[in-house]
Amino acid sequence: MGYDVVIVGGAVMGAATAYYLKDREPSIRVVVVERDPTYSQASTVLSDGNVRIQFNLEENIRMSLYGLEALTDFGERMAVGDWKPEPAPRHQGNLFLTDEAHRHEAEIGLQRQRGLGCKIEWLDAAEIYRRFPAYDGAGYAGGTLGPLDGSVDPSAVLQGYVRKSASIGVEYLNAEVVAFTRTGSAITGVTLADGTLVAAPVVVNAAGAWCAPLAATVQVDLPVLPVMRTVYTVETSIDNAALPSVFMPSGLYAIPETGGRFLVGWSQPDDPVGFDFSFSRGRFYELIWPELGTQLPAFEALNLAGGWTGLYEVNTLDGNAILGEWPELDGLYLANGFSGHGFQHAHAVGRHIAESILGRPTSLNLSRFGPQRIIDQEPLFEYAGRII
Ligand SMILES: Cc1cc2nc3c(=O)[nH]c(=O)nc-3n(C[C@H](O)[C@H](O)[C@H](O)COP(=O)(O)OP(=O)(O)OC[C@H]3O[C@@H](n4cnc5c(N)ncnc54)[C@H](O)[C@@H]3O)c2cc1C
Repeated sequence: MGYDVVIVGGAVMGAATAYYLKDREPSIRVVVVERDPTYSQASTVLSDGNVRIQFNLEENIRMSLYGLEALTDFGERMAVGDWKPEPAPRHQGNLFLTDEAHRHEAEIGLQRQRGLGCKIEWLDAAEIYRRFPAYDGAGYAGGTLGPLDGSVDPSAVLQGYVRKSASIGVEYLNAEVVAFTRTGSAITGVTLADGTLVAAPVVVNAAGAWCAPLAATVQVDLPVLPVMRTVYTVETSIDNAALPSVFMPSGLYAIPETGGRFLVGWSQPDDPVGFDFSFSRGRFYELIWPELGTQLPAFEALNLAGGWTGLYEVNTLDGNAILGEWPELDGLYLANGFSGHGFQHAHAVGRHIAESILGRPTSLNLSRFGPQRIIDQEPLFEYAGRII
């Protein structure tokens, strides 16, 4: 089997890259190798689907802005025959609360976002409590509200890219890649679990939390670990119809769904590393509920309805994406290390990797996310010294 490009992993990053490649260059032969067409463990479908332009790095903000643009006519662009995906964007807004200790970081982000034309509001504590009484809580200095931030259905975006790319000629192969192959300083393809060699001068690693073991098969050392993250669904009597999502300085968050239901999560530095999808209700009762009730008393009464666990693909160097060709191995392209905020950037990442492979000018300058910084061990932090 021979192709121009093999993409390993067919969830949102792989499928978006495949779409942009084939859309921009119809003659290119692209195969996406995905071992699980149900995507049962893909972070994409286990994501919260939250999108925001509230980042501190200009590149992340610009990728988010392109994501918003891509969604405006996504259904029409990804339509296949009578079918069209419905990503159902909800712009309920994201409210990032800040205490005095983190106020400076929040102000830097706010200035940068506004400098790029984003309409982000600063709300002082009194204004927050007046507009959103359910978020009346523990002495915040204020918060930033991004009215265009919100939620998008990850499965719809994924299916849009998969079906559209397949309809324009991308091949999808249901198989597991066990190794990449190289000759000297050039990638030559991949080996499947049944021993088949799929030859190509370009391989894209879009294997999410599984990217590092695959890269290691060609002696490329990626600092990306699979970290367990659990999302809890809780039922409350809070009227959440007009509430934004709320993010606390500790990282604890609550995303309103419908009818008083919220998605709640809280990343911890000691969250287990590994390919483990187990779900712990105990952790919610012991850790998350006490903190939530203390920070926001409106959440003291709630019912834990359920939840799930997925994997963040954490870039332990700096918590940001690793994008582009590995400098020491021609033809190996990386779309890795998104560290829990990749879903919203898939549109920009897919376009960027496709443009890079095709040797065309890139729409966004994402060179600071290039893999050279991994080799040089020069982190590019979103916030000073903080991974996420
Ligand atoms: C709980 C949780 C909440 C999140 N919330 C958000 C959010 O609100 N907003 C946001 O922007 N991001 C969020 N994220 C992050 C986001 O989901 C990811 O950054 C993004 O989906 C990564 O997409 P991906 O295609 O790279 O990886 P994945 O979706 O994990 O896909 C990787 C694919 O590769 C396949 N694969 C792996 N190894 C092989 C192999 N050897 N052979 C063949 N196929 C292989 C897998 O089967 C899988 O389908 C969240 C993640 C989690 C876990």
